[in-house]
Amino acid sequence: MPIERETIPFDVLFVGGGPANLAGAIRLMQLAREKNLELEVALIEKGSEIGSHAVSGAILNPRALVELIPDFLEKGCPIENRVRADAFYYLTRDKAFPVPVVPCYMHNHGFYVVSQSRLTRWLAGIAEEMGVNIFSGFAGKEPLFSTDGTGILGVRIGDKGIGKDGTHRSNFEPGVDLTASVTVFGEGARGSLFQEIAKKLGIDSLKMPQVYETGIKEVIQLPDDHYFTRSQANDIHFMGYPLGLYTPGGGFIYEMADNRISLGFLTGLSYDDPFLDPYDMLLEFKQHPFVMDIIRDGKVIEQGARTVSNGGFFTIPRLSVDGAVFVGGSAAMQNVPGLKGIHTAMKSGMLAAEAIIHAIESNDFSQHALDRYTELFDQSWLRAEIFEGRNFAAALAKKGPAKYIHLAAQYVTAGKGIRDVMPLEADYLTLKAKDARDKSGTSDKSAVDGVLLVDKLTGVYLSRTLHREDQPSHLLVHDLNICVNQCYETYQNPCTRFCPAQVYEFHIDETTSRRELRLNPSNCLHCKTCDIKDPYRNITWTCPEGGDGPGYKLV
Ligand SMILES: Cc1cc2nc3c(=O)[nH]c(=O)nc-3n(C[C@H](O)[C@H](O)[C@H](O)COP(=O)(O)OP(=O)(O)OC[C@H]3O[C@@H](n4cnc5c(N)ncnc54)[C@H](O)[C@@H]3O)c2cc1C
Repeated sequence: MPIERETIPFDVLFVGGGPANLAGAIRLMQLAREKNLELEVALIEKGSEIGSHAVSGAILNPRALVELIPDFLEKGCPIENRVRADAFYYLTRDKAFPVPVVPCYMHNHGFYVVSQSRLTRWLAGIAEEMGVNIFSGFAGKEPLFSTDGTGILGVRIGDKGIGKDGTHRSNFEPGVDLTASVTVFGEGARGSLFQEIAKKLGIDSLKMPQVYETGIKEVIQLPDDHYFTRSQANDIHFMGYPLGLYTPGGGFIYEMADNRISLGFLTGLSYDDPFLDPYDMLLEFKQHPFVMDIIRDGKVIEQGARTVSNGGFFTIPRLSVDGAVFVGGSAAMQNVPGLKGIHTAMKSGMLAAEAIIHAIESNDFSQHALDRYTELFDQSWLRAEIFEGRNFAAALAKKGPAKYIHLAAQYVTAGKGIRDVMPLEADYLTLKAKDARDKSGTSDKSAVDGVLLVDKLTGVYLSRTLHREDQPSHLLVHDLNICVNQCYETYQNPCTRFCPAQVYEFHIDETTSRRELRLNPSNCLHCKTCDIKDPYRNITWTCPEGGDGPGYKLV
């Protein structure tokens, strides 16, 4: 029997409660007030509360925030610290060399250190005060396409109370259909609904494939007398060890308030060694003597992981379709060389809001009307900023000295470089079977002490991740035969390594030699690495029941 679903109409619906959509919702309400427009606006977030799925560094360039809320400090914006000075180190296995000139993109002096989780909660409070209906714990499960299939009517919220076997439990609640004149998709990097729309409406065709980095991030509590009480630089970036110069990525340490630091390591998913484990990169980075000096006697108090869309300008999709616009990380709004996506996500949401108000005033929600967002983007500082880093990801993906020649050329030519429009390769294509060598023993696991160096499962615990166990797996592995045959034989199941939460485990029965891939979806941190890096495109990440997932408070 077909499920009866309630439909709730809004003027504008924001899908996702990250900086892009929260800034967009606030800007929309500001403009509506100025123009005396009464709007019904909703924002849904799959986390149990705003900020519970938010992971970032985070150095905040305040440019967009100043435009949105000029008195943000007076209004109590939760700032952890202000950047006093930047430092940039090149690490070898046991030495750290200061890079004499910090690239201009990474000049963060005067910017703010924030916790994205706390920042988004604060923004949500402001949005709510202005009349935005915020529904946390509601996951957009599928886009609602118009009958002719060319536009968007809204989203369907995921059902609640479905058993593992697909049957409805006594607490079954069908997901409602939320419709709107305009739906704003701000799901962050690798949005699951965005992927579906892109596939159906081709909004990313003719674009370069998106490329990603996986970031694993911790908040570490340090003793009172720590490195930053003696160091002027409180924003430190690292390149080199343990990734080397071959694969994009690196580490960061930012000083937060209350003797805490934000420490993280990002690994470019263009890596080619199937035995590479981004979590091991984090552990090795932390054990480097220079880094250890900074974090000694510390205790990891929270951990999280998330991918970042790093493709840049040539990966930006079509920004509007009939009835919908795309903002933030899903739409590649990232300053790639500057390692920043918060202010760019916010600005994209704010520009989208301006276009939406115009569409409401003219009662025209067609792609043509919403293309005003693209026009505003083209005239904005946001485009200029993203355009300057247009070839950066492609240069980073180059191997050997060519990488540095391209990067240097781009640095001195405001992004043009040696070849303008450098191609990118999708991350799922880059693993090389012939290079497979067992590196799984390289990180010193004996050093894992459960306090300063924690293993994957302790990390999951420290992320406060919870999923209702009795629900169908939200990780769809389409063909298990591929896992136990081709993938095992060619790459030895890289999902068991690239997942930072030990969701995937491979077992071989000693007596029967039967191979089996087992899943622990309840560990999932919603980072989406598996959806991106699986070499057979055999894994699809979908939203689990709303409210499930990490419970971040500080990262
Ligand atoms: C380790 C790391 C370090 C970083 N460091 C920095 C930094 O120092 N400075 C900086 O500026 N940027 C940094 N970034 C990048 C920055 O965090 C992102 O660019 C930014 O968060 C993108 O904002 P967004 O609103 O587009 O998406 P997100 O912040 O990802 O927010 C999307 C929200 O939508 C929700 N959502 C997703 N799908 C659905 C759905 N279907 N239904 C309901 N809700 C949904 C998610 O739960 C999430 O809360 C870093 C990122 C990482 C991972």
